[in-house]
Amino acid sequence: THFGEEIVALEDKQGLVNKVFHDVADRYDLMNDLMSFGIHRLWKDAMVADLAPPRTGARGYRVLDMAGGTGDVAERIVNASHGYAEVVVSDINADMLRVGAERAKSWRFPAQASFIEANAEELPFPDRSFDAYTIAFGIRNVPRIQQALNEAHRVLKRGGRILVLEFSQVDVPGFDAIYKTFSDNLIPPMGRAVTGDAQPYQYLVESIRKFPDPARFSAMLATAGFKRVKAVPYSGNIATLFSGWKI
Ligand code: SAM
Repeated sequence: THFGEEIVALEDKQGLVNKVFHDVADRYDLMNDLMSFGIHRLWKDAMVADLAPPRTGARGYRVLDMAGGTGDVAERIVNASHGYAEVVVSDINADMLRVGAERAKSWRFPAQASFIEANAEELPFPDRSFDAYTIAFGIRNVPRIQQALNEAHRVLKRGGRILVLEFSQVDVPGFDAIYKTFSDNLIPPMGRAVTGDAQPYQYLVESIRKFPDPARFSAMLATAGFKRVKAVPYSGNIATLFSGWKI
């Protein structure tokens, strides 16, 4: 049936994504810096500034950084909270988490992080257990995006916030052509130079093109139950920061 084929295709997608991040885990941070000229750091700083995690409180502040990979968003959140926030870094890929857990030993506040392997589509956390849910450059890799957003809504407390940082389509005249040339002609060879294989990077470029546009993705956040959904473009639309509240 058509339905059956769709499921198989989605499983294939997760398998391919898992292979990409298994292969690149040890060089992932270097790869990110090379491919974005270090700009991913500024976007992540801006994301965490928008979250503005509290530095004190009576009840603690728990964040789930989903598809958290090597933990760089989590580290920024903990630092911004001066060591007050507790972050669960969760990812489907054990290799990425292993690199992240190793790196976390040299954080300023190493005790504030924990690392848990999980699929964003099916979270092993109880309802209403987090104050914030963050996901940076992760949601586009998840086969069933709506299901992951529904899960995010479920695990957030009332008054909790979701922040999604993701690549989008560059539509600034002139810049769009440059960006396309860069994506098609430089990203896969850079991937080959660092990991020995270009094909997975071709997949990453395509996954950015297939990702829903900001209006559609905002509608998916609303469908999951989020209110006051906002989309803020970064760097000529290379990336977008989406946010919403569980009220
Ligand atoms: N958040 C990190 C960052 O911004 O550098 C890592 C982003 S990396 C591009 C994407 C991550 O999504 C990978 O670590 C991958 O293992 C993870 N991922 C892919 N599919 C997932 C799923 N279904 N559930 C949880 N994580 C997933």
